[in-house]
Amino acid sequence: MRKLKASILGLLVLGFAATAQDASVKYAKTITPEDMRSKLTILASDEFEGRETGTEGQKKASAFLEEFYQKIGLQGPVNGTYRQKFSMYQSDWSEVYVKVKGKKKMNGVDFIFSGSANMDKEMKLSTVFIGNGDGLADMDVKDKGVMVTAFSRELLTKINEAGAKAIFRMSANDEQFMQTMPRQARRSMKSRLRFDKELGANQSMIFNITKEMGAHLLNSSVEKIDAAADNPASIKPSTIRLMVQEKLVELGTENMMAFLEGTDLKDEVLVISSHYDHIGQNEDGSVINNGADDDGSGTTGVMEIAEAFAQAAKEGNGPRRSILFLNVTGEEKGLLGSAYYADNPIFPLENTVNNLNIDMIGRVDPDHENDRDYVYAIGSEKLSSHLKIISEYANITYMGMNLDYRYDDPADKNRFYYRSDHYNFAKKGIPIIFYFNGTHADYHRPSDTVDKIEFDVMARRAQLVFHTAWILANRNDRTPVDRTDDMDYNR
Ligand SMILES: [Zn+2]
Repeated sequence: MRKLKASILGLLVLGFAATAQDASVKYAKTITPEDMRSKLTILASDEFEGRETGTEGQKKASAFLEEFYQKIGLQGPVNGTYRQKFSMYQSDWSEVYVKVKGKKKMNGVDFIFSGSANMDKEMKLSTVFIGNGDGLADMDVKDKGVMVTAFSRELLTKINEAGAKAIFRMSANDEQFMQTMPRQARRSMKSRLRFDKELGANQSMIFNITKEMGAHLLNSSVEKIDAAADNPASIKPSTIRLMVQEKLVELGTENMMAFLEGTDLKDEVLVISSHYDHIGQNEDGSVINNGADDDGSGTTGVMEIAEAFAQAAKEGNGPRRSILFLNVTGEEKGLLGSAYYADNPIFPLENTVNNLNIDMIGRVDPDHENDRDYVYAIGSEKLSSHLKIISEYANITYMGMNLDYRYDDPADKNRFYYRSDHYNFAKKGIPIIFYFNGTHADYHRPSDTVDKIEFDVMARRAQLVFHTAWILANRNDRTPVDRTDDMDYNR
């Protein structure tokens, strides 16, 4: 039944029926659990320090990739090198405080700041109490601070439109607010990476504070604030001094890539990608997030697939289209490396036919403990009516795995389609498939280690990507971009 289905699909999709004697089968077999283990054991070792973007550990990982691609004889497509170098900027708050009667209240201790701002000297801000904001339309808050007891996206928009400079958002429950402060502080004090090297422009300032602090800032009391709910104008404005200073440090990093030139359709390029960065280690290096699954597994997968194609090419079975093996940096910082590539492509995006992105293929998630031979295939139907069929065909013909499509449901809350590097290709209208094993308890934790990887399943998933890539790189027609459904840029 499976064979029959496969050959019918094959006739429809390819115009010919592939068989188990295809050359691709021989090369797929070079992708083995043992090879994967030896590569991933290095990539996810403590020596690589969790591969955080811009750190020593990331440099070690990039050197490892470079050496490998050189060894298997693939070209470095960036002026003869394997590195697409660029700078990012790490932003930290060097000083953020609010002054009350000469006493400083500090970010992360007394309140939580969020926004984008940077000032040379203290700002003096006349601040008005607007209660829950219902009466905002009748108040003049231009260039002022506003103190609110309620908050919503809608109110934020209104306050911004009214030209306010800063928002002081009082908590509904001070005790609870202070309890969650340490966790919120850790999150808000984390360094952020970005491309923009301009310092914050005081565009948006939100100070999350206790009601007590708010009362204090207004020279009032919690009781009076509560009593003024229906008549916020009864609380007099006050002058608040505040300071926000941002510090930017330039970080050099690089996407890694290797190129295999195609034969008669070499101007068209298939991209097979993973991210080789991860979330690094704690300050003193005592806790390392090895990122074996995320995304050591995908990076190992790309390396193995590259090796299989390189061997095929050496034996005269090279792909008709070109293939770019791309290991991006900065995924964990917000898909930055793939965004950089998509804006600064080495090969024209209009000739980039597909992206197969592998992010986490080394584990079995709790939903598949009795069905290990599976992978989530995400996004294959979004932009092309052909890609999912080709993917199905490759699977039925060569692998027979369970391709789980549950995350293609637009109602799914996880929104995985928007959460890895393929999305930056999809945004440019390039049909993609995202291969993923699902999340698990060790996701983004120091326990995401090599000993937990299931190499047999991982090798089969990489073989599936290889077979799919083989078809995409060799069939006559490139996949048409004939669907544009629910492209959503406001994730
Ligand atoms: Zn990842």
